[in-house]
Amino acid sequence: MATVYNWQIGRDMSYWYPQARPSKQFAMVFDTNKCIACQTCTMACKNAWTSGRGQEYMFWNNVETKPYGGYPQAWDSKLLEVLGPQQWNGTTYRGKTIFEAAPAGERSVGIQPDDPDYTSPNIGEDEVFGQVEKGLKVIMPHTPWMFYLPRICNHCTYPSCLASCPRGSVYKRPEDGIVLIDQGRCRGYRECVRGCPYKKSFFRSTSGISEKCIGCYPLVERGLQTFCVQNCIGKIRMMGFLHTPEASVPDNPLDFLVHEKHLALPLYPQFGLEANIYYVPPIHVPLPYLEQIFGPRAQEAVANYKAAWSDPEVVGLIELFGSTDRIMNSFKLIGDEAVGYNASGAEVVRVPLKEPVHLRAAYDAALQVERRSIT
Ligand code: SF4
Ligand code: SF4
Repeated sequence: MATVYNWQIGRDMSYWYPQARPSKQFAMVFDTNKCIACQTCTMACKNAWTSGRGQEYMFWNNVETKPYGGYPQAWDSKLLEVLGPQQWNGTTYRGKTIFEAAPAGERSVGIQPDDPDYTSPNIGEDEVFGQVEKGLKVIMPHTPWMFYLPRICNHCTYPSCLASCPRGSVYKRPEDGIVLIDQGRCRGYRECVRGCPYKKSFFRSTSGISEKCIGCYPLVERGLQTFCVQNCIGKIRMMGFLHTPEASVPDNPLDFLVHEKHLALPLYPQFGLEANIYYVPPIHVPLPYLEQIFGPRAQEAVANYKAAWSDPEVVGLIELFGSTDRIMNSFKLIGDEAVGYNASGAEVVRVPLKEPVHLRAAYDAALQVERRSIT
């Protein structure tokens, strides 16, 4: 075991291989407050990458309703039960990561899902936590709650799929941090399936080897955001590259949201993988649940998001979500517009901070028609 630094848990930790950060790290931010669970991302990914035989149950992207949904079923609660209650001292994790809690002879704590766990991808959809009494009317804040959690592979800085593979078939690209399985080397031992705490590595029965999200690398190499981002109806997603907190670049959109404004948090940081998909937490969910799933900074992120409307830079960046298929490496405000730039510094998108409203006379003299609103 090597000792590596994981900034998400604020300390050094044990990992199977020495630290080897890529020159830039593939990352995304998902704003859970805007997700409508339309599953367009899921189908965009499925149509692109997993529509073949033996891939029927593979959802590299899925969207589950928390607290009861999960794909595969109970992927997180089963592991949380094994790891026990979290112990944080401020923002430093004092409990054991999945690598540190590994039993003798194993590289991480892993759970192999059973086949039935994969049979209901959308189990628990729209089920709320809490009693819904007869005659309930709208009261604020809502006591029953649920929220949608979109999930893909986290292209972790310390991937457990990679650490768990006895054949060295899983690798992390040094140029962008995307984690891939070498299809030629894999022999289908499924140790990556067992080892990934997020259950984002899948076994394909027709080929006898394992497959996982490829981060749409053919697009990323051309400066394009992934299919799940491009197709997101709710415009909740932004893909880009993230630095470590010490190397944060304030006009990099991902650094801005994660490091500068503390709006977005990793999923289950206590697992210890330094996951690279970040979430703006839902603002209506009880704090203890948010802290379990997003860690001790959840309250701060919710407060920052609630205050975001008064910060034009944050408003501008939120407007840039889903506004272009290009990867934005930097952004800035120019007047009342937010502008995104690619890696060469060329402008790729420009959006107004506030959508203009056009008022038109009901009677159009040129066409001699009366316009009526029928909605
Ligand atoms: S989420 Fe799972 S499959 Fe993806 S890189 Fe991390 S450990 Fe590997
Ligand atoms: S496409 Fe976007 S809004 Fe729809 S489910 Fe996926 S993440 Fe949510």
